Amino acid sequence: MLRSFLLFLAKADWARNIITHFPPARLAARRFVAGETVEEAIEAIRRLNAKGMTASLDHLGENVSATTDADRTTETYLGLIERVVATPDLAPTTISVKLTALGLDISEAVCLANMQRILERAQEHNIEVTIDMESSDYTERTLRIYRALHGEQGFKNVGTVIQSYLRRSEADMTELAKLGARIRLCKGAYKEPPTVAFQDKRDVDNNFAILTKIFLRPEAVEAGAYLEIATHDDAVIDAAIYHARKNGLSPDQFEFQMLHGVRTQLQERLVANGYRVRIYVPYGSQWYPYFMRRLAERPANLWFFVSNFFRR
Ligand SMILES: Cc1cc2nc3c(=O)[nH]c(=O)nc-3n(C[C@H](O)[C@H](O)[C@H](O)COP(=O)(O)OP(=O)(O)OC[C@H]3O[C@@H](n4cnc5c(N)ncnc54)[C@H](O)[C@@H]3O)c2cc1C
Repeated sequence: MLRSFLLFLAKADWARNIITHFPPARLAARRFVAGETVEEAIEAIRRLNAKGMTASLDHLGENVSATTDADRTTETYLGLIERVVATPDLAPTTISVKLTALGLDISEAVCLANMQRILERAQEHNIEVTIDMESSDYTERTLRIYRALHGEQGFKNVGTVIQSYLRRSEADMTELAKLGARIRLCKGAYKEPPTVAFQDKRDVDNNFAILTKIFLRPEAVEAGAYLEIATHDDAVIDAAIYHARKNGLSPDQFEFQMLHGVRTQLQERLVANGYRVRIYVPYGSQWYPYFMRRLAERPANLWFFVSNFFRR
């Protein structure tokens, strides 16, 4: 109930207006968001690098409806790539993008053209780009654009995300493993109906294990498939490590990914145990929907936020 309500608020403009104007909300969001400027994000990445972790940098923003806004987001990402290149002390940093911020609501053609520009610039500098996965309204279009970029246009620096709560994901992962895709596997953060998504946590977790096994096989790895296990769930992580070991994979043949500000001790423990850990580092002024999804994932975050709110 609470999760559904918070995810409903994440899309409501009136709630955005109220919440973003309260300083305590900004303060609470800082746990999950590196800051509003790229400099703050670069500093956050340096701190992670010092702890043996890499980062994926995300400029916050979603759902634009004007071509000029999609162009502006594209230019921001081109500038971001240049900024990363101009900071050679950073460990290899990847970029994460949302297709709705690049014009997916306008047309697939506009969005594809913007992604091509970003991938070309990133490719010049050996930077990898991951297309985030948004709500199920966009899944088919996102995968179509991914296939066009990775398959038809031959960009090897592009990856995308699959969500274990979606019923369709087993078929998608089977196909993507054959394509030698780089896939970030997560549980999924949006409100979805039972017709398209498992509603019970046990089913979502079981499916995560099934999807993990599809990629953590020697045949898939030989085909070029690379799995990024994006979760903070101990049981899911332990199961992935078990399957990787059982199949003779070494810790450099997959990686774990977590969100900035979430389970930092677990992040450090995995590094200490010799695993690759990459942290998703979002920054920018459009932090509201991202922050609300983080609250929805864990009600305890909400109480932390509310107590700060009333303390002021
Ligand atoms: C790198 C990365 C990229 C992602 N990209 C996408 C994407 O493109 N599309 C998409 O739909 N979703 C994305 N997500 C979000 C994901 O779908 C989940 O909503 C989120 O990771 C929480 O699920 P969990 O796997 O950690 O498991 P859960 O079962 O939700 O949580 C396991 C434990 O982790 C801790 N935890 C989890 N979330 C939080 C939180 N917000 N605050 C504090 N503690 C928490 C708690 O201790 C909890 O018990 C991404 C997640 C990561 C890590």
